[in-house]
Amino acid sequence: MNENHLCCTCLHREDRPELGLGGKLIYCRKKEMVVSPKLKCDIYSRATKQSIKELERSIYGVIPEGESEY
Ligand code: SF4
Repeated sequence: MNENHLCCTCLHREDRPELGLGGKLIYCRKKEMVVSPKLKCDIYSRATKQSIKELERSIYGVIPEGESEY
């Protein structure tokens, strides 16, 4: 995937093994569909440590300290 593509750094991108490692297609959790990587997107949200943590918390509930790392 081109590093200029917004999806690379977007919170809404979801890694799906079935889409392969080529990075030509990505699954957008927000749009709930497979999309080609975007250079422009109205709903882009930059993934930060904090926003990723909040997302995980909303999906998995509260994760006790020390159990979120593998
Ligand atoms: S919200 Fe836009 S930039 Fe983010 S993953 Fe979906 S399509 Fe890509």
